[in-house]
Amino acid sequence: MLAKLKTRACPHCKQVGRLIRHGFSRGYDQKHRREKTVRAWRVFCNNRLRTAGCGRTFSVWIADKIKRLFLTADNLWAFLQQAILTGNKIQAFRELQSGLSDSAPYRIWKRFHHAQSAIRTALRPLCEPPEISSQQPAALTLAHLEAAFSRHPLGPIAAFQVTLQTFFV
Ligand SMILES: [Zn+2]
Repeated sequence: MLAKLKTRACPHCKQVGRLIRHGFSRGYDQKHRREKTVRAWRVFCNNRLRTAGCGRTFSVWIADKIKRLFLTADNLWAFLQQAILTGNKIQAFRELQSGLSDSAPYRIWKRFHHAQSAIRTALRPLCEPPEISSQQPAALTLAHLEAAFSRHPLGPIAAFQVTLQTFFV
């Protein structure tokens, strides 16, 4: 999406190559009504300088959902962190109150497990994996994600999906 902004046409004036990122718009999360979460990028059709965009802004929704899992990126991050910390996947998953069955955490963990080497390969150009005390590959993957996206306004998983334009798992 965002990496491809330069090749996208403005929905208003239909010109290609005028779009630039312009900040975030925030919306309320369904489950956490008091917390505002970033839900979209504001995109600006550039009419400054010598470019001839139309000057209008609109929203591009971000990839904060996990494909086929019915979880948000934030939920998945919370689950993975907690599961690694406590070693209890079922309990970590129940804390999300997602309404999904107790078999879901195993399914999700399996997908994460299979995706790990691809995730770490994708992160490598962004930053080196940090030194951590844990020998667990899963802990290292999460630490690497945190290191790569510590300054990103989205959570690490949504940031991964948006930045690398690929699904996390
Ligand atoms: Zn335009």
